[in-house]
Amino acid sequence: MSSAFIPQEASCSCYSNTYTINNKPIGRFICHCTICQEFTGQAYNDVTVLLKSDVSELKLINTKFRRWKLPPNINRGLCTRCNKPSIVMAVGGNLILVPTANYPDGAALPEPTMHLFYNRRVEDMDDDLPKYKGFVQSQAMMVKVLAQGRYKRVAKR
Ligand SMILES: [Zn+2]
Repeated sequence: MSSAFIPQEASCSCYSNTYTINNKPIGRFICHCTICQEFTGQAYNDVTVLLKSDVSELKLINTKFRRWKLPPNINRGLCTRCNKPSIVMAVGGNLILVPTANYPDGAALPEPTMHLFYNRRVEDMDDDLPKYKGFVQSQAMMVKVLAQGRYKRVAKR
């Protein structure tokens, strides 16, 4: 955690949508929920969490936002060209979720800390990370980790 985060220009897989990540994500987790599966077209969504102020220069002309039924407070943006995740706005846009695949340099990202909605998994994960099941448990863990991440960020200033 000692090295400073070098800003990265993240994008969807075809680079039609771009934005700059200016800060190390406050969290990273792997979500196995069926919405994330549909959204990414993959078995799970390996995703980072950022504060709104960490992301700048958003060029999202080719992003179409959509709300799935759950969780209600998340706006998922898909690229209209490559049909892959562009960017996700949560909690009224105060949190931004960016799939790790959208970063040019994934090595600079924090390690994932947990699996969410593990009961929906397509494949078993061979790691020692905590695995949370179901909506209530997964949602509670996400809120807790985000609160800790936000607190750490504020405490650093
Ligand atoms: Zn695209």
